[in-house]
Amino acid sequence: MNTQASITPDQHQPIILTGDRATGQLHLGHYVGSLQQRVQLQHQYQQNILVADMQGLTDNGHNPQKVADNILNVVADYLAVGIDPKLTTICLQSAIPALAELTMYYSNVVSIARLERNPTVKSEIQSKAFGRSIPAGFLTYPISQAADITAFRASLIPVGDDQLPMLEQTNEIVRKINTIAGKNILVECQPLLSKVARLPSTDGKNKMSKSMGNTITLGADSKTISQAVKSMYTDPTHLRVEDPGCVEGNIVFTYLDAFHPDGAYIETLKQQYRQGGLGDGTTKKILEQCLQDLISPIRKRRADYLNNKDYLIEVLKSGTEHANQQTQQVLTDIKTAFGLNLF
Ligand code: ATP
Ligand code: MG
Repeated sequence: MNTQASITPDQHQPIILTGDRATGQLHLGHYVGSLQQRVQLQHQYQQNILVADMQGLTDNGHNPQKVADNILNVVADYLAVGIDPKLTTICLQSAIPALAELTMYYSNVVSIARLERNPTVKSEIQSKAFGRSIPAGFLTYPISQAADITAFRASLIPVGDDQLPMLEQTNEIVRKINTIAGKNILVECQPLLSKVARLPSTDGKNKMSKSMGNTITLGADSKTISQAVKSMYTDPTHLRVEDPGCVEGNIVFTYLDAFHPDGAYIETLKQQYRQGGLGDGTTKKILEQCLQDLISPIRKRRADYLNNKDYLIEVLKSGTEHANQQTQQVLTDIKTAFGLNLF
């Protein structure tokens, strides 16, 4: 089987690199924050999607099985939402040695102080309560992301807004390496944010994220979806149906905005809610139906894919072979820039 048969790298198409840590099933935050966009982008760009298993290990070194167990889950999620391996290179980070090598080279141009200043890493360190026992790999994962991005010569990075500091740090590394090389061997990248750059969890307190255990996954069964919607945070001052309610910060409306296909209809609901006369039970019912309709076919397809693991492995292997060819040249360029290409 040749899953890459139709990939015809067109030199004029900008290159995309994006990806997900293999730390759990993908969720609605991924769907609206990046997956939906990737399905569109694969038609106009050379799109590479990295299953970031090594990055997943940076805070799971004590439990590597969690990462190993989730690699194929993530691939199944990609295929289930419509990412097409004939249009997109889906590849495995740990099986592309150039990425680890580049990380080592780039580590020499980044200071610990700079790594500690990265606001996303800073807040992750706090929320994971690492203290002084932070794994070195975790503190330095922005360097590994810079290696991933530059290895593919990617200029466009579709991400959620938690990743913006990583792209800033990547571009700093690019400029430093280009200065050392005396010419532009690496390209700077820019983010592509989706309409919903940070989907909150159902309680509205945090970003929906795998490691916080606050997700509605793309494989969630209908009962789980129903319970998640029922438990959603709304407007605590909206006690009776006839009371005027607040839409801003009301997670049910945040989700309706993100997922309901009929924006005009949601605007009329908002008006009614603000005036009074629309109950949370009704808005939740509308949202539940919308999420059931969205997730149910994805759930079915991902289960079918997971019943055919050989196919998932073949997709990943074939994409990884393609990625290994693509990333070699940048590694050679870097070694040459450092004067290390003796033979
Ligand atoms: P983990 O908790 O293990 O870090 P995660 O849920 O944060 O997992 P990642 O694999 O770290 O997911 O993120 C992959 C991509 O999805 C990133 O570009 C990230 O910005 C985006 N993303 C993740 N969660 C959300 C969200 N709630 N809203 C929008 N985008 C998101
Ligand atoms: Mg994350």
